[in-house]
Amino acid sequence: MAVSIHPSVDNGVKKGNPNFAGGTLTCKCTEAPVTVSIGSNVAFNHACGCTKCWKPKGAVFSVVAVVSRDKLAVTANGQKLKIVDASATIQRYACTGCGVHMYGRIENKGHPFHGLDFVHVELSKESGWEEPRFAAFVSSIIESGAKPDQMAGVRARLKELGLEPYDCLSPALMDLIATHTAKAKGVLAA
Ligand SMILES: [Zn+2]
Ligand SMILES: [Zn+2]
Repeated sequence: MAVSIHPSVDNGVKKGNPNFAGGTLTCKCTEAPVTVSIGSNVAFNHACGCTKCWKPKGAVFSVVAVVSRDKLAVTANGQKLKIVDASATIQRYACTGCGVHMYGRIENKGHPFHGLDFVHVELSKESGWEEPRFAAFVSSIIESGAKPDQMAGVRARLKELGLEPYDCLSPALMDLIATHTAKAKGVLAA
């Protein structure tokens, strides 16, 4: 049996539509669900093994992407949202009814990812969202209970799905962070 990663990729990664223009995320409450509208496709969609991202029940990884914060709007029942950990870099807004994280936002203007919100497109019924393209913080799943001796199998399965496994972020994102830091220090011209 294949190692389970996340329900949205366990049967293979379905390619998104590059012309997809966005959709609506809905939390899991049967009554008065929170809805969030996204006015564009997402970017850097990936599987994440960290302990902070929201995962559906039983999933080992979350699937999380970014979108420009000006493309995101809470459109219903926003009063149910509460920040999970106000001291975290990413302030994750969770529904107090069902626990789903509707979006994560960085308020620190000096952060390399300021201006981007983190979202889980599996909360949308629309199809066409950019597909997950890599796996980040893979080793961190051990902190959520995965056994160290399972890791080779997990990494092999991620590769088989086309989700290159990394133990931090992908090279493109690590380069963005380092570029931001180099510009802030004056090593690179801004
Ligand atoms: Zn809810
Ligand atoms: Zn994460």
